[in-house]
Amino acid sequence: MKNNFHFDLAILGSGSTAFAAAISAAAQDKKVLMTEERTLGGTCLNRGCVPSKNLIEAAQLWHNAANPRFSGIYTRQEHLDFKELIDQLCLKLILITILKRGAALPPSPKGLGFRAIIFG
Ligand SMILES: Cc1cc2nc3c(=O)[nH]c(=O)nc-3n(C[C@H](O)[C@H](O)[C@H](O)COP(=O)(O)OP(=O)(O)OC[C@H]3O[C@@H](n4cnc5c(N)ncnc54)[C@H](O)[C@@H]3O)c2cc1C
Repeated sequence: MKNNFHFDLAILGSGSTAFAAAISAAAQDKKVLMTEERTLGGTCLNRGCVPSKNLIEAAQLWHNAANPRFSGIYTRQEHLDFKELIDQLCLKLILITILKRGAALPPSPKGLGFRAIIFG
């Protein structure tokens, strides 16, 4: 079977920068090809901002329990289960991965305007 593909822009990678470029090009009716050699979403979604913010927020809650910000409120740190904390993060990342798989299937993800996302 012969496939004839035509794209106006080919993007190597699928991180935040790639998505910004793809959305901008798609808004100008350009056909965009996005590739990825590792995991869809790049550093921010998989290893950077999203997972680190999750743990920073959890650490903040744990800290606040021992350091209430308002006089008259008395709280304490009860119990920290680090494995459970990591498990919930992993579960969220797995859910994101499942959602990404769904979004990556052609035809284009709704609202983004991409023609295809092809993985290496
Ligand atoms: C721990 C951590 C926390 C962070 N927190 C924040 C934050 O709170 N706020 C913030 O603004 N930034 C944060 N960052 C920075 C942010 O993650 C990066 O600035 C951002 O992800 C860069 O996006 P990018 O698209 O340029 O690169 P990336 O997200 O790294 O994407 C590049 C992608 O290209 C792929 N690729 C590379 N070469 C090829 C190839 N030849 N073919 C196919 N695919 C290829 C890679 O596999 C990768 O998926 C954080 C980073 C880290 C590590």
